[in-house]
Amino acid sequence: MKNWKAYVSPLILLLIFEAVAVTLWLTKGNLFYLFNFTYIGFSISLSVFLFIRKSPHARRVAQLMVGLYMLVYLGLIRRENMQIEGFWYYLFTGVFEAATIHYAVAKIFGPLLFGRGWCGYACWTAMVLDFLPFKVPAQPRKKIGWIHYVTFAASLVFVSALFLAKVGHIEEIMFWAFIVGNVLYYAVGIALAFAFKDNRAFCKYICPITVFFKPMSYFSLMRVQCDHTKCVSCGKCKKVCPMDVDMTDNARSRKNGTECILCMECVKNCPKKAL
Ligand code: SF4
Ligand code: SF4
Ligand code: SF4
Repeated sequence: MKNWKAYVSPLILLLIFEAVAVTLWLTKGNLFYLFNFTYIGFSISLSVFLFIRKSPHARRVAQLMVGLYMLVYLGLIRRENMQIEGFWYYLFTGVFEAATIHYAVAKIFGPLLFGRGWCGYACWTAMVLDFLPFKVPAQPRKKIGWIHYVTFAASLVFVSALFLAKVGHIEEIMFWAFIVGNVLYYAVGIALAFAFKDNRAFCKYICPITVFFKPMSYFSLMRVQCDHTKCVSCGKCKKVCPMDVDMTDNARSRKNGTECILCMECVKNCPKKAL
């Protein structure tokens, strides 16, 4: 049995999410926020707890609990578009609700604290892609990362056009955009994973949200660091990284540093406990 101090980090995480849950509940007067952030906080804390207990499925637990909740409950049952076009939609209508809060917490300001934790523990697209067989990229990175900016711009143009053309029933369009968008994401994500033999190819080349993630996670408080007094340069960590990060370099500008999804595969596989 581990010392209770080993479990301080999941407890702190739970308290941070609870603070967000209570603040939003009281300021917005909506009980939903209390339930929503308590559930997400519990799922992620449970995953960290399981990681400390050395469960091999710790990350998958959070991915499935949060990913399915967002996709099925928020997206399909509550009909809230939590994709990037939903974010633009709520932003243009001036409503600080649903997708805008989700983006602010998980994808814009949250990454200053927990980097791309969303990508490792909560994203419902990666939740499916991570079941595919190419956990570690078999080929070097392609130079097609610019596609992120095209998909980002396309989502903005799509929603702007709906507003400029004063199209009616935008709520309904947003719901169908969520369904069509997800089907497309899964289809392209799975096809690319097989084409490039890399589960995370969609994240590396296509996903528009990385346009927010990259600059914010550059300053992330939580990041994998290397203790060079212990490291023997065996290279095992780099061999298991799904995102091609050079985690042995502690500089913020390290290779693919803003791509780290905090999956902890490198930490688990380091024979010297240097990470
Ligand atoms: S990069 Fe995009 S698709 Fe990949 S995990 Fe992050 S949010 Fe999900
Ligand atoms: S696995 Fe550990 S010891 Fe080996 S290179 Fe990476 S940090 Fe250094
Ligand atoms: S293996 Fe390490 S550096 Fe690579 S994404 Fe996972 S936590 Fe980040």
